[in-house]
Amino acid sequence: MLVFKFGGASVKDAEGLVNLVKVVKKFDGNKILIVVSAMGKTTNALEKLVNAYFNQNINLNQIFDEIKQYHEDILKQLFEPGHSVFDEVANTFVEIDWIIEEEPQDSFDFIYDQIVSIGELVSTRIVNAYLNINGIKSQWLDARGFIHTDNTYREGQVQWNKTQKSIIERVPKLLEKGIVLTQGFLGGTSENFTTTLGREGSDYSAAIFAACLGAESVTTWKDVPGILNADPKHFKDTIKFDELTYNEAIEMTFYGASVIHPKTIKPLQNAHIPLLVKPFYNPIAEGTVIKENATNIFIKPIIILKENQVLISITAKDYSFISENNLSEIFLLFAKNNLKINMMQSSALSFSVSFDYVEAKFISLLNSLKERYKVKYNNNLLLITLRHYTETNLKDLTANKTILLEQKSRNTIQLVVS
Ligand code: ASP
Ligand code: MG
Repeated sequence: MLVFKFGGASVKDAEGLVNLVKVVKKFDGNKILIVVSAMGKTTNALEKLVNAYFNQNINLNQIFDEIKQYHEDILKQLFEPGHSVFDEVANTFVEIDWIIEEEPQDSFDFIYDQIVSIGELVSTRIVNAYLNINGIKSQWLDARGFIHTDNTYREGQVQWNKTQKSIIERVPKLLEKGIVLTQGFLGGTSENFTTTLGREGSDYSAAIFAACLGAESVTTWKDVPGILNADPKHFKDTIKFDELTYNEAIEMTFYGASVIHPKTIKPLQNAHIPLLVKPFYNPIAEGTVIKENATNIFIKPIIILKENQVLISITAKDYSFISENNLSEIFLLFAKNNLKINMMQSSALSFSVSFDYVEAKFISLLNSLKERYKVKYNNNLLLITLRHYTETNLKDLTANKTILLEQKSRNTIQLVVS
């Protein structure tokens, strides 16, 4: 059996859905489980809605109306008036009305998951109905009853044994009858509350279903020809990799490449399931295959850019050396503030760290450091990671830039620049 994942960009408009049907028809005769994300930028819009709700912002209803209107427009282009999908979508959105008509009582993260998940619940209703009116039998599956997580809202930790049991018990029987269509990004707790798996988590959902079902492969359909050595939005002359090893793909996502969600590869690697990244507008193209014994060919280096970095340098107030004791204290503060370090370097008296700038977390970190340490910082920086680089690549990339921090190993160089 095959697992397909369609991300937000591939279902952002009516044309995208028409194309999705074409892609699925090409694979007629296979057992297929399809994972779909929220349409277009819906998740961002729902995040805005959650923020507006918590801040009691007067734009709350307007934000919500725009989200509904966007879906309504797509529906009208694809379905005859009176089709049951109109009611299904409206009934799904009503869940948000119920939440926002009262003032927030529960935690931000909990409410976030209950609201943001509606994006995937709606998109899958629409895609499912559209497959069915095009003669492809598709069955809508509520992922929250299959991907079981703990109560870590916005970053649900998957309970593998329980998840595997639910999937194996019920999904193969459904696959006998037709396509199974489900939401990416969503999980459910033991009390039946909705969790999400972290932004861009739909790839991970596809990997979970694939690993539990022993799929032949996972295909993630994207708006690029495959995995490229650099983001075509920022670089000309990018090249596509035909193959990559799981390990190279893990390294890439670790350094911030946004092509695949970082948690996706491990379950696939453990189960020896290849991950294909293919263009949704050209389903017969080869794309990129990620697998164990791939031939990595690095004609050009892999370039990964991460914007919005802050670089801080930490010195002890008593001018003591940066020692293991200091470091363990500093790391603990990073962990407590849920901050992930992207790059770090220490010298005798100071410790420099670069990480993604999120104002609230940053301020909280500074407050917790300030008792014992002096902190200097720069923000609005760019983190460049180059894998399989040459000195020429390096020169080209750093021309006209001020390098604030640099680190080299045999394969990888990282630079924080302004
Ligand atoms: N819709 C979610 C997001 O945008 C999950 C995903 O697209 O993978 O983060
Ligand atoms: Mg998305």
